[in-house]
Amino acid sequence: MLLSLSLVVGTAQIAQGVPWLELLLRGIQIIQLSNMSDQQEVQIGQQINQQLVGKQFKLYRNREINRYVDQIGQRLAKRSERPNINYTFQVVDDGNINAFATMGGFVYINTGLIAAADNEAQLASVMAHEIGHIVGRHSIQQIKQAAIARGLAEAAGVDSNTMVNLGVELALRRPNSRQHEFQADELGIKNLKQAGYAPIGSVDFMKKLLKQRGFIPGFLSTHPSTADRIDSLEQSIDSNRAYVGDGLNNRAYKNKTRAVRNQKKAALKRTTGRRGRVLRSAQLAQEPQACPIVFLLTSRTVRR
Ligand SMILES: [Zn+2]
Repeated sequence: MLLSLSLVVGTAQIAQGVPWLELLLRGIQIIQLSNMSDQQEVQIGQQINQQLVGKQFKLYRNREINRYVDQIGQRLAKRSERPNINYTFQVVDDGNINAFATMGGFVYINTGLIAAADNEAQLASVMAHEIGHIVGRHSIQQIKQAAIARGLAEAAGVDSNTMVNLGVELALRRPNSRQHEFQADELGIKNLKQAGYAPIGSVDFMKKLLKQRGFIPGFLSTHPSTADRIDSLEQSIDSNRAYVGDGLNNRAYKNKTRAVRNQKKAALKRTTGRRGRVLRSAQLAQEPQACPIVFLLTSRTVRR
């Protein structure tokens, strides 16, 4: 309460016309979107995270896997273009191949994605892409657009509750724009290289997912922007340096992530039996993806 009080007082001037005394009494902050401080962003990110974890999805509780993913994430974050905030990398217990991020340094990686990657460089490429969304402050821009479109934004800004609600919705259900995807790719590949990973991981992973036509519904796998993204990633990799760096030891990666793979196999057997692949494809088609990492693969993204 003390903190929010100081924030409201701090922005009271901008919040002219908003009954800020009332907001203050209710403990709601007015966030000025065009000029959000890192501290405010982290605070809102924490609140969004609280709404997501345990309510919208379940975290994967395996200490070894979590430690491994965090270690990769921190290595990348340190060499990102925004190393001065804390990053939290969490593993989501979800077999869909997906990853997403929200403001203030929160990155989420599904177990399905960990299981789908061949090596650490591939997993790191997705995580670097997600960090790219945070570096580019994409979710703040998305929230701003959504708030304006729905008439929820005052001239002064958006109240923190609205912002958290929109943040939860966007993190889970709204794909980023093409422009943001390209920018996250660009920042991601740069970060991957800076952190000493072999850049080929990013291209390999996208190509791999595209090839799995039995797994990915056909109508989604033909999205042209996937090819565009692979092209632009390839262009940003010096072919002599593509395989230079860490993370290409497939066997080491499989060993480290065995728990996730075993879980996936067991789940598939339990829920879908022999027709598992077919059912999983149908399921994938229905589920909107938050950060279309290759996912592109969703019809919503196709229309953008
Ligand atoms: Zn993305």
